[in-house]
Amino acid sequence: MPEVKLIVHGGAWNIPEKHQQDHIDGCRKAAELIYPELNKGMNAVDAVEAAVRLLEEDATFDAGRGAFLNAAGEIELDAIICDGSTLNFGAMAAIHNILHPVSAARLLLNHPEHCFLAGEGAQRFLRDIDFPEVKIEELLTNRELEYYQQIKVDPDFRTKQPFQSHRGGTVGAVALDKTGNLAAATSTGGTPRKLPGRIGDSPVIGSGTYADNQSGAVSATGYGESILKVVLAKQVCDLFLQTSAMEAARKGIEILQTRVNGWGGVIGINKYGEYAFHHNTECMAFARHVPGRGIIAQISHRND
Ligand code: ASP
Repeated sequence: MPEVKLIVHGGAWNIPEKHQQDHIDGCRKAAELIYPELNKGMNAVDAVEAAVRLLEEDATFDAGRGAFLNAAGEIELDAIICDGSTLNFGAMAAIHNILHPVSAARLLLNHPEHCFLAGEGAQRFLRDIDFPEVKIEELLTNRELEYYQQIKVDPDFRTKQPFQSHRGGTVGAVALDKTGNLAAATSTGGTPRKLPGRIGDSPVIGSGTYADNQSGAVSATGYGESILKVVLAKQVCDLFLQTSAMEAARKGIEILQTRVNGWGGVIGINKYGEYAFHHNTECMAFARHVPGRGIIAQISHRND
């Protein structure tokens, strides 16, 4: 019986020092609460959903509560959940007033017809089934309101630039359960001051997230417009078949950097249960369970 594995991340930007402990604590909490459940037999899909829900509730991160505002001063959220045993996925993009976009995405995981809904249609689908909506006040933090007010009038601000300064925080989780099944999930508010309707890599199958029991599972974070171009998560899963898990993550990020000058990070688990993580951004916040050592939560720095 395979040993269960769990790794979660809380973004890979240039996380300012004053926010680093919050990122470590948030990732640790998600891993600490969900790993024992996985060990007791929770399946990988349930585990990644539950871990991401905890991260979405934590205002530290750019997902659910605490997400960035878009250019119109709204919060638009994207999420996906992938099942490595079936290759099924469910994804929702550009949805509003949802605390747990990952659970909204899960509604489509085994849907008989559709796997990805966006915008008004996604919202209507959720309303039709009375999926819980929250007021924007439940998602909006003063920190993000102030940040939005500062950047909305800055003529030089581009969503590509904030890697230099902003706090980061897309969230993701990857799990291997007792039956050997892999799953991955990612949830995000996207990039600050994005145009309404902008969809990044996170909810796009193969780009921000992928899971296949025959190779591995990955959740990515970073500048979505670049990650999309190299289909990063699937790229790393394919590399799992050629090399060690860590080397696959390193090569995936190398492709992101050399082919499209992109910035980001990945976490993953290959089909043998080996962890993978790498980033070329200044920092990445993540936590994982290591046999014999328990939960290790950290901010890794590019030159560590
Ligand atoms: N990849 C996300 C996006 O571009 C942002 C992030 O990971 O922080 O929407």
